[in-house]
Amino acid sequence: MTLDKRLGQRFLPYGANYLDWPDMQELRDAIERGVLFRYQTETESVASRLERRAAERLGAGHVLAVHNCTEALRLALISTRPRAGDLVHIPAVTFVAVAGAVLSSGLIPVMVDVDDSLSMDASLLPPGTQRVIVAHMEGTVAPLPDGVPYVIEDAAQALGATFPDGRHAGTRGYAGAFSFHHNKVLTSGEGGLLTTDNRAAWETMRCYHDHGSARVPGHYPTWNQDAYYGENLVTSEEVAAIQYQQFRHLDDVLGGLERHYAIAVEALACRADMKVLPRAAGDVKTSVRLRWDSRALRDAAVSAFTQRGIANWTLDKYLLPAHPVTTSRRSLYADGFPWNLAPDKPLALSRDGFARTRDLLDRTLCVPLSPELPENDQIHAVRILRKTLESV
Ligand SMILES: *Cc1c(COP(=O)(O)O)cnc(C)c1O
Repeated sequence: MTLDKRLGQRFLPYGANYLDWPDMQELRDAIERGVLFRYQTETESVASRLERRAAERLGAGHVLAVHNCTEALRLALISTRPRAGDLVHIPAVTFVAVAGAVLSSGLIPVMVDVDDSLSMDASLLPPGTQRVIVAHMEGTVAPLPDGVPYVIEDAAQALGATFPDGRHAGTRGYAGAFSFHHNKVLTSGEGGLLTTDNRAAWETMRCYHDHGSARVPGHYPTWNQDAYYGENLVTSEEVAAIQYQQFRHLDDVLGGLERHYAIAVEALACRADMKVLPRAAGDVKTSVRLRWDSRALRDAAVSAFTQRGIANWTLDKYLLPAHPVTTSRRSLYADGFPWNLAPDKPLALSRDGFARTRDLLDRTLCVPLSPELPENDQIHAVRILRKTLESV
């Protein structure tokens, strides 16, 4: 396949994967053993091995594999034992899944404005804030607020990213949530991991994610007298097997992203009306972000890329205060739950009504990086980018 064709085929950003049949040992084993349910046997499941591996790799105390990152966020929130209608502060710029996770947990999202790096501006948090979800968007590590009892790190887009102190994104707060959706650093189509250093919290999460049961692998679940209700968020062996295999390639993916980013920064930092946004050392460089002087220039770049078949995206869709899910306050519940519990005032914290943030997003354009391409192809891909930008 030609390079242009390969790049064109990657319609969704990243979505690089290292699916390769000869390398799918764990998946083949699961199928040959006929075991797809993680608690089917007394022997260690692939899901447990995956959790152990992820804990080691990330330096996390405990890991729980679940269906997806949205469920991981929800599970983290519920494990804090909130009251229905409690407020959860979330970044004003992030994927709508964060607001959905809060609302579907019976809680109310408050959107907090972001700084120039598009990470939550923690200085806006009111005293006494109990729960915050911080999102490490596109692998950019966001600082965590101090003095908040429950900081949940949404590391859906930041597997492998590290804080300046070397600790992994997703392991410093009360809990961390990772995604293996098609669009993320590693993928199993769908999938999620939840991390926490808090043993009691992990036990609560494990119990809730398996119908509130006390489970012994290889046996039907049992319920203690003090059981509470739960849900079924238990992962499947074939999904865990693919995630386990994908983890083998994490360093390759991170290295490939870093290299492609370095090539792009060098080649593109060349005009007065646009700058390539810098990325910190520990960030996972899933994209190159271009910040233009005006929205018109940004839109011209979008058309040029799109015409040329080059994948690109804007961040406009991430502005939650303008998202239908938060503006309409609709719910499938007849009584409007949980919006019916929300205070009757804007659920947003911003100094300027998000004017600066809107402007930043209006002028920003992202181009995905392709970690799986060999260096020469990455250089070639950047050349095509650069050439296309010349027409803007
Ligand atoms: C993808 C994503 C999610 C949701 O992850 P799923 O695994 O698809 O549920 C949550 N937050 C952010 C920032 C994401 O990018």
